[in-house]
Parts: sequence; structure tokens; C-alpha cells
Amino acid sequence: MGLTGIQILQMLPKKNCGECKFPTCLAFAMKVAAGQTDIADCPYVSEEVKAKISEASAPPIRTVKLGGGDHTFSCGGETVLFRHEKRFEHPTGIAVLITTDMAEDEVTGRLERFKKLEYERVGIMLKADLVAIKDAGDKGAFVNLVKRVREEIPGAPLILMSQDPEALKAGADVCGDFKPLLYAATMDNYQAMAEVAKAAGAPLAVKGADIGETAFLAEELGKAGLKDLVLDTGARTIRALYEDQIAMRRAAIKHKYRPLGYPSITFPCEMTDDDLLEALIASVLIPKYAGIVVLSDLKGDILFPLLVERLNIFTDPQKPLVVQEGIYPINGPDEESPVLVTCNFALTYFIVSGEIETSRVPSWLLIKDTEGLSVLTAWAAGKFGADSIADFVKKCGIAEKVKHRKLIIPGYLASIKGELEEELPDWEILIGPREASHLPSYLKEWQAA
Ligand code: SF4
Repeated sequence: MGLTGIQILQMLPKKNCGECKFPTCLAFAMKVAAGQTDIADCPYVSEEVKAKISEASAPPIRTVKLGGGDHTFSCGGETVLFRHEKRFEHPTGIAVLITTDMAEDEVTGRLERFKKLEYERVGIMLKADLVAIKDAGDKGAFVNLVKRVREEIPGAPLILMSQDPEALKAGADVCGDFKPLLYAATMDNYQAMAEVAKAAGAPLAVKGADIGETAFLAEELGKAGLKDLVLDTGARTIRALYEDQIAMRRAAIKHKYRPLGYPSITFPCEMTDDDLLEALIASVLIPKYAGIVVLSDLKGDILFPLLVERLNIFTDPQKPLVVQEGIYPINGPDEESPVLVTCNFALTYFIVSGEIETSRVPSWLLIKDTEGLSVLTAWAAGKFGADSIADFVKKCGIAEKVKHRKLIIPGYLASIKGELEEELPDWEILIGPREASHLPSYLKEWQAA
């Protein structure tokens, strides 16, 4: 970890030929050092140098991938202890557990909820990510359950759980190229599990009795050539697990301790029978470094807050959340409905659209791309002035959706009214309220007028 651009440059052929799509070797080296491009993009670098740079510039916590194609789930790849230092890379995967000794309707219910429970927030679809299938001691039933889930939810990456290497091998065969996580190598079986994982080309989970044993197993499996590991320290109390999660992250990032430089898998489902307590445990593990949390079931009132928490924690603090530019119909508007315009900062959009919904007044909300800046900041930056709003109103197509020509602008932009009227001579510009909370009463008055 941590080669500088200059160190990388010294290993490049220095042809400055541009075949890597960068004008010079130095520019390319800087991008490789920043993790923004791949050393393999230079066709003149030897395999030996590629391996050396890839190894040296790999994140301290390895990125592990499951599934495949459009349904690849990634965990790990983390480089910092705290989000504000840079960002967290891969959101904690949320998995639902099904087992071979579970009643049929229970399995069906969990799979249905996995498929059904999804939510849109700030333009992003939020849902659970993985299905964990546990062998309760019946290899045939286990393989059938894997087949069933692959057929019913082919896009769901899987965690296959069994103490029997043969059962895991059979389950992995069912998955083919859609790589499952195999759970788990322990002190009793790790050599056999290593063979199964190698043959399947699948990541392998490691379960130790404690963090020390987990590190030992990871080191042994690493020596055996297994690179994609996921760690379970065996802790099943919140205090011990919390301590282990932090100790693993610190060891990997601060001390470059490779045996603990892998994402973790955690099991709130095994720590309590109480749904709310399980959710509480998961809510502690999501910000504190869990790569995957396995839940006993998915219920909307528990899943939704966890998904929102995860969204908040794994949002890049250096990039504002945005919504797409466009026309948003709210409450079923028609050609007489009011037209409002605001910026595309996600928080603004959700507050404004929420207040319009509350008003129950059918409305058109125009969202102008301001690169995620809020109304006044965007105006000050020249991204939400009269000219750019006018251009957007002309090109967005709202004129074909309404008969009237009245545009409501945010109260904070009252000063651009005159200028906007010059830019949009066919439109009457109305000054909306400064605070979104005043929109419902404003719109009701507009409707009554
Ligand atoms: Fe340099 Fe390789 Fe890029 Fe050519 S392709 S400019 S040699 S880094």
C-alpha cells in the first residue's frame, strides 16, 4: 500500500506514448497511485512489475467479490478508519438467512420479502443484497435449496453455509460462474475447504474461535494461495464483536497486518431471538466495519432504517448527493397545476417534494442540475441564475405539459425575478416561500386563487 506516483513512474517504460490514454507516463503513474486507473492499462509493463505494483497499491483490506456480471456484490476495499478521512468504499451487505430445516412457508416468505422489499431514496434503490443458505446437516436438501434460490432469484449473490466441504462443493457447482461465498473454513476443516474454494474459484469465509485463531487461519489459507477471504472472528456478543471489528480494521489499516486485511461477515441472527435487538446489533455493525451482516429475516420496519443508515454511512462525503435533472410530477398534476423549480441537491429535492406531497396539491417540480449545490450556493456559483434557469425551463418540456405560464421560484431567489422575466418573457415569475415548510399553505392558496 502507498506507492507514490514517482515510485510507480520509476517502474514504467517512460515512452510517453499515450497508449494508456494519458499523455505522459507521469500522468499515468499519478493516476495509478491515486487508485484511479489500473496499471494493466499500460501495455509495456511486464507481468512482474504489474504484480509488484498491484500488490503494493492494493487497499489494506482486500476487495472481495461475489456473484458476477450485473449482480456482482463487493465488500472490503476499505482504506480508512473513519469516513471523514476519505470515504467508505463498499456498503455493508445485508443478507437474509434461510436454512434446510426451516418450514417451507418460512423459506418462501423470506425469499419473497427479499425480492419485494426495496425502497427508493435520493434516487437510489435500497434493498437487501444477499441470501445466506445454511445446511442444517442434509446435503441433498442443501443442494436443492441452492438450486431453488438460483432459479427464483438468479440475481442474488449467495452465501453457502455448511460444515461439510462436500456439501459446499456441490452447492458451488450449482452456482457455476456466479461465485458464492463459501462459509466457513475452521481449524477442523480448513485444508479441505481451501481445496473446495480453489476448485470453485470462490471466496472463502474463515471462522476462528477468536480473533487470534481467525488471523492464523487467514494466514495459513493465504499461504495456500487463497486470496479472497472473508473473516468471522466467532464473536457472538455485541461487545466482543464490536471490539473485534475495530481491532481488525485498525490492525489492517494502521499496522498493515495482512492476515486481518479482509472484509468481515457478522451474524446478528445468531446473537438474539429478539427482532429489535437484532436490528440494533446490525445498526452498530454497519458503521463499525462489517462487510456483511446476516439477518434472520427481512421486515420492512427493520430493514428500511438499516438501509438508510447504510446509505448515510457509505455516502461519499466529498460528493453531494444529487437527483437527476428533469420534471417530477407530484400528486398527479395536470395542465393547470403549479410549476415550481429548485436545485438538484438531494436534500433540497426530498424536503421540497415531501412538502408538496403533504400539501396534496398536484404540482410539477422542475429539478435543475446544479451539481448538487443548494439553492443559494448554486446561485452564488453561477449555476442557478436567471439565464441557466431560463435555458432549463425552455428545454425541459414543461411548456407542453401546462397551459398556463406561471413559474414559482424559491423565495431565496427573489432578487432574480426581474432578470428571469426578461429571459422568459412568456412566463410570469412568482416568488415562492423561503422555507419549504411553508409550501403547503402557499400551494393551497395558489390552488384556491
Ligand atoms: Fe507511458 Fe505506458 Fe502510458 Fe505509454 S502506455 S504513456 S509507456 S504509461
